[in-house]
Amino acid sequence: MAQLFSNQFVNRRTALMTLISAGAALFAQGFPTVNASDNDVLANILPDVTAGSRAKLRTILSSPGFSGQIPAAAVQDLLASEKKNIAALMLALLPLARTFSHPPISNYHVGAVAQGMSGSLYLGFNIEFPGQALGFAVHGEQAALSSAYMHSEAGVSAIAVTAAPCGHCRQFMNELSPDGQIEIFVDQAAPTKLSALLPLAFGPKDLGRKDGAFPVKQTNLTSVAPASDALLQAALDAARTAYAPYTGACSGAAIATRSGRIYKGSYVENVAFNPSLSPLQTALVQMLVAGEDYSAISRVALAEIKGAKISQRTATEAVLSAIAPSVRVEFVAAETRS
Ligand SMILES: [Zn+2]
Repeated sequence: MAQLFSNQFVNRRTALMTLISAGAALFAQGFPTVNASDNDVLANILPDVTAGSRAKLRTILSSPGFSGQIPAAAVQDLLASEKKNIAALMLALLPLARTFSHPPISNYHVGAVAQGMSGSLYLGFNIEFPGQALGFAVHGEQAALSSAYMHSEAGVSAIAVTAAPCGHCRQFMNELSPDGQIEIFVDQAAPTKLSALLPLAFGPKDLGRKDGAFPVKQTNLTSVAPASDALLQAALDAARTAYAPYTGACSGAAIATRSGRIYKGSYVENVAFNPSLSPLQTALVQMLVAGEDYSAISRVALAEIKGAKISQRTATEAVLSAIAPSVRVEFVAAETRS
């Protein structure tokens, strides 16, 4: 039964990926049409969502710059057309978020939807890397929250998840909502605040920090050698918005794909160290939710501060070896601008 579910899942996901990557050209050819029933992929994934809402979602998912954000104005439209409150809407979108998951080790598909302070929503999903240590895995909540981070939200107010957040994710969330006020929605359970799920929390204050990761801040970094290339520059830009208060080791990654897009990922550090999210992981979330797969990766760059306390180099190479073994990481040495 689990295998059957898994196969159905892959088929749906594959179909959705085709839908998203094909974009408007395929709509013009009539596949799939907004009102299609049998071949409407979103109708299979979101059977309880109205056709009008699905059409709106399809437009957002297939827009050229999409990387996981359902903008606040669209969220308002969805709330009105679905006649749901925000918690119910976020829970209703979980099956969609889950279609982006890549869990080849567990085959356990997680979906998450985070709400930013702007009112925008962010899709999250789990990612596992075959052949590599489990510590490299990205949890669904981390993916959704990192997407809110990459879209420069001022903070996050809620997250819906397909299952109760694991301890690792509770600790990760505590860095992004150190007051514990983020609301957590899990189907069939009453809304809960993080402070109730993580009492006596070890948080940023324990290592002398006043704030958590939000709002996103800029570090004044420059590259040691000129980074004229767009990909190298993107990695440097991502390093500038990294959150690394415990090591000072700001880092950023950028992925170029054969479609011509570049996806940025910033390092998001955690007071408990282990739940920290590496920049390549953050960038991969942006790439996968855009509907691109590992086979599309053409180049990867990593920008780090020269001589920093820690490096993401070996972690980046290890993850890349699992998903795009022919791609070599290009490095950008950065320094704090004086
Ligand atoms: Zn987790």
